[in-house]
Amino acid sequence: MLEKGEKLSMLGEKTAKSFARQLGITTTGELLQHYPRRYLKRGELTRIADLPVGEIATVVGEIVSVSARFIKGRGGHILEATISDGSSLLSLAFFGQAWRKEELTKGRRGFFSGKVGSFSGKLQLAHPDYELFDEITPEEAKAWAELPIPVYPATSTLPSWRIETSIRQVLGQSVIKEVIPNEILSKRNLIGLSAAIHRIHQPQKDSDYEQAIASLKFHEALLLQLSLIERRNSFAEERAAILNDAGMAMEFEKHLDFEFTDSQQRVNQEIEQDLASGKPMHRLLQGEVGSGKTVVALRAIMLAAAKNLQSVLLAPTEVLAEQHFESIRTALGEDLTRQLGLRLLTGSLGALDRKKTELDLASGKCLLAVGTHALFSERIQFADLALVVIDEQHRFGVMQREAIKQKGKAAPHVLTMTATPIPRTIAITAFGDLEISTLRELPRGRQPIETHVVKITSPALVSRVWQRVAEEVAKGRQAFVVCPRISGKEYEEGSTGASEVAPAAAEEVFDSLKKNPALAGLRVGLMHGRLDYEQKQAVMASFAAGEIDVLVSTTVIEVGVNIPNATAMIVLDADRFGISQLHQLRGRIGRGQHSGICLLLSASEEDSLAAQRLTALANSTDGFELSELDLELRGEGDVLGENQAGTKSQLRLLKVTRDGELIEQARELAKELLSQELPESLKHGMKLMLLGELASA
Ligand code: ADP
Ligand code: MG
Repeated sequence: MLEKGEKLSMLGEKTAKSFARQLGITTTGELLQHYPRRYLKRGELTRIADLPVGEIATVVGEIVSVSARFIKGRGGHILEATISDGSSLLSLAFFGQAWRKEELTKGRRGFFSGKVGSFSGKLQLAHPDYELFDEITPEEAKAWAELPIPVYPATSTLPSWRIETSIRQVLGQSVIKEVIPNEILSKRNLIGLSAAIHRIHQPQKDSDYEQAIASLKFHEALLLQLSLIERRNSFAEERAAILNDAGMAMEFEKHLDFEFTDSQQRVNQEIEQDLASGKPMHRLLQGEVGSGKTVVALRAIMLAAAKNLQSVLLAPTEVLAEQHFESIRTALGEDLTRQLGLRLLTGSLGALDRKKTELDLASGKCLLAVGTHALFSERIQFADLALVVIDEQHRFGVMQREAIKQKGKAAPHVLTMTATPIPRTIAITAFGDLEISTLRELPRGRQPIETHVVKITSPALVSRVWQRVAEEVAKGRQAFVVCPRISGKEYEEGSTGASEVAPAAAEEVFDSLKKNPALAGLRVGLMHGRLDYEQKQAVMASFAAGEIDVLVSTTVIEVGVNIPNATAMIVLDADRFGISQLHQLRGRIGRGQHSGICLLLSASEEDSLAAQRLTALANSTDGFELSELDLELRGEGDVLGENQAGTKSQLRLLKVTRDGELIEQARELAKELLSQELPESLKHGMKLMLLGELASA
């Protein structure tokens, strides 16, 4: 391998500059990793007769005539050549470059590429790039016609064939060192890195680039997993409290009025092992809403408490923190609550309560604090913080997580819980430095939810929806009505196109439902993120108490809200939400003894992508399956997100959406390799990868 920083100077200054400016390629390594987008057969080059005006195209043709004229004001000479490929004629024009007359002579053949224009009724390439070649024998012609021609991501001034020529030049002068030991590759029937780089750029037949791609994908997958796992291992060099006393955990289990599911038991074990290891746990616990993550976390908290060490449970919002606090108090029961000195800490806590909590945290009397980011504030001191449980981490910034970690004496154990199922391939690509536990099984007693898409083509259909809501309420149940926006005004401000129909706004829907005859006599409530804390609390409390029949809301209810009597959910303009988000929302109903119904209202056209997503959601209740689908429809860029851009940019050929199996295999292999001394070549490969120079020349 050539080292990072090998400049493209061997191509000449001018070419090097265009690569830098137009494709952001500055080193030979980057150039050699500028892989073809696809391959053409020469026979498949565009015929002149089919040339698309306005696009960049390459043709092969023979020069049938050449003429040079002198035009005033246009740089002097104009050289015009006409080429034919047997299908039609194409004119080439060069201004002020009379010298080209020497090489562009009648009868010569070549490739010609450029942007197709039209000039006085004739197809024309102005200033095309070209490469001429001599006559060839029929055999050569056949081989030539069948040779796969790489098509590179290109620009009008750096056309594909120019890139090809430059790569050929660089390849000829580079030595590519192997990265993955041959035993590993040959076991998988993969070719080496050098061969792969050569064959992806200069295939002689289709199987050449197919083998090359397979090998390069494997290189990417393995190097990525090696660096992720190495990072994870580096966490393990930190010391953390050894939490190996299960006494209180067993007491807690006895106290619960249910048995842990098999899934939960497995995760309990995993966590127990982590906590007893003396190294900080970094574990992601994923499971659908209601799969019992919080009880699993509580059990872990017991392990810390048994050693008289502190835990915090962080929630993304005050409403959720409050709810966690209440449900944890119930789950613990009086004795354990007192023993743990359970405390709530949010920004809106009164000064007195806050002071008390702060004292209890500093003295170590409080062994479990539930709260929001207020727990990060500088005034908060912990006596001995050992475990941090984060609910729905994606709403916490990395900085905040670091801040809370700083609060511990030793490195705290960190358990992150998420109800948004992350497809495993994403999880090990984006979060490959965390261990992952998954609760796949829901505790018994969860009720099925029926989901239907309602296409709002007629007012009759819509009024049928409200009748359905009224029926649920008549049976003594409650309903959620979810809207994408809080107010209509906010949309007008942000809206750009006048033709767009504003999505349903909670405030307006609330007003209109109060007047809706189908819902006459029902108590309608309103909930959204702009209400202040007391208002939100009051609304949730009256909904929980059954004093509100229909709650119009935004997605503030997406996570954590537990109203067992709610059985109906109407989502307005459902196409405005993502699949995973809708699945989360739907998890708010069917939490009691009655089954639920979820109606997704949408105006989107049948067969549209939006309609397909909604139909998929109606047909599946498996959050993991849905998140995979979501990923497919949205593309991985969205999922990996901006902060994962580093990870993403290193992947040229590997697609987390399609190469899940390969990524899994690479992960296993990476673990195995890292359990011993890593071969030098791989260490080197990892270093290059971190520099963005994977498979560099
Ligand atoms: P999550 O945090 O994943 O949303 P919770 O831990 O809050 O789930 O559990 C949801 C509800 O299910 C709670 O009322 C909890 O007490 C109950 N629960 C958890 N595990 C079980 C189980 N194994 N069997 C029965 N109920 C359970
Ligand atoms: Mg929860």
